Amino acid sequence: MKATEFLKDILEKEYGIRPLTRNENGDIICYQCGRIARDHCHSEAGLREVEISGVCEECWDKMFSEEGEEGEEWKDLILKTLLHG
Ligand SMILES: [Zn+2]
Repeated sequence: MKATEFLKDILEKEYGIRPLTRNENGDIICYQCGRIARDHCHSEAGLREVEISGVCEECWDKMFSEEGEEGEEWKDLILKTLLHG
Protein backbone atom coordinates (compact mmCIF):
# COMPACT_ATOMS: atom_id res chain seq x y z
CA MET A 1 0.00 0.00 0.00
CA LYS A 2 1.30 3.45 -0.93
CA ALA A 3 1.88 5.96 1.84
CA THR A 4 -0.81 8.29 0.50
CA GLU A 5 -3.35 5.48 0.42
CA PHE A 6 -2.38 4.51 3.92
CA LEU A 7 -2.89 8.09 5.08
CA LYS A 8 -6.27 8.36 3.36
CA ASP A 9 -7.29 5.14 5.07
CA ILE A 10 -6.35 6.51 8.47
CA LEU A 11 -8.12 9.81 7.79
CA GLU A 12 -11.28 8.06 6.72
CA LYS A 13 -11.37 5.53 9.56
CA GLU A 14 -10.18 7.73 12.39
CA TYR A 15 -11.59 11.11 11.43
CA GLY A 16 -14.39 10.34 8.99
CA ILE A 17 -12.65 12.39 6.29
CA ARG A 18 -13.33 10.66 3.01
CA PRO A 19 -11.38 10.81 -0.22
CA LEU A 20 -13.02 13.06 -2.78
CA THR A 21 -15.71 11.50 -4.92
CA ARG A 22 -15.74 12.54 -8.56
CA ASN A 23 -18.15 11.85 -11.39
CA GLU A 24 -17.09 10.74 -14.87
CA ASN A 25 -16.38 14.38 -15.82
CA GLY A 26 -14.00 14.81 -12.91
CA ASP A 27 -16.39 17.05 -10.98
CA ILE A 28 -16.23 16.61 -7.23
CA ILE A 29 -19.45 15.23 -5.78
CA CYS A 30 -20.44 16.68 -2.40
CA TYR A 31 -20.67 13.78 0.04
CA GLN A 32 -23.33 15.55 2.09
CA CYS A 33 -25.88 16.27 -0.64
CA GLY A 34 -24.55 14.18 -3.57
CA ARG A 35 -24.68 17.11 -6.01
CA ILE A 36 -21.85 18.50 -8.14
CA ALA A 37 -20.06 20.52 -5.49
CA ARG A 38 -18.81 23.44 -7.57
CA ASP A 39 -22.38 24.19 -8.70
CA HIS A 40 -23.20 24.86 -5.07
CA CYS A 41 -20.20 26.97 -4.20
CA HIS A 42 -20.46 30.74 -4.28
CA SER A 43 -16.94 31.90 -3.48
CA GLU A 44 -13.30 31.08 -4.13
CA ALA A 45 -13.00 29.95 -0.52
CA GLY A 46 -15.92 27.61 -1.03
CA LEU A 47 -14.27 26.05 -4.05
CA ARG A 48 -11.06 25.51 -2.06
CA GLU A 49 -13.06 23.90 0.73
CA VAL A 50 -14.52 21.42 -1.73
CA GLU A 51 -11.04 20.27 -2.72
CA ILE A 52 -10.17 19.75 0.93
CA SER A 53 -13.31 18.53 2.59
CA GLY A 54 -15.41 17.14 -0.26
CA VAL A 55 -18.38 19.16 0.99
CA CYS A 56 -20.01 21.92 -1.09
CA GLU A 57 -20.22 25.44 0.29
CA GLU A 58 -23.98 25.25 0.84
CA CYS A 59 -23.66 22.10 2.96
CA TRP A 60 -20.60 23.47 4.73
CA ASP A 61 -22.49 26.64 5.65
CA LYS A 62 -25.46 24.57 6.80
CA MET A 63 -23.19 22.51 9.05
CA PHE A 64 -21.95 25.68 10.75
CA SER A 65 -24.79 28.17 10.32
CA GLU A 66 -26.45 27.31 13.64
CA GLU A 67 -23.34 28.45 15.46
CA GLY A 68 -23.54 32.01 14.12
CA GLU A 69 -20.40 34.12 14.61
CA GLU A 70 -18.78 31.38 16.62
CA GLY A 71 -19.37 28.98 13.74
CA GLU A 72 -17.35 31.18 11.41
CA GLU A 73 -14.43 30.93 13.79
CA TRP A 74 -14.73 27.14 13.92
CA LYS A 75 -14.92 27.03 10.15
CA ASP A 76 -11.66 29.01 9.90
CA LEU A 77 -10.00 26.84 12.51
CA ILE A 78 -10.98 23.59 10.79
CA LEU A 79 -9.86 24.95 7.43
CA LYS A 80 -6.50 26.01 8.83
CA THR A 81 -6.05 22.61 10.44
CA LEU A 82 -6.88 20.82 7.20
CA LEU A 83 -4.63 23.08 5.14
CA HIS A 84 -1.61 23.05 7.40
CA GLY A 85 -1.99 19.81 9.31
ZN1 LIG B 1 -23.55 19.69 -0.65
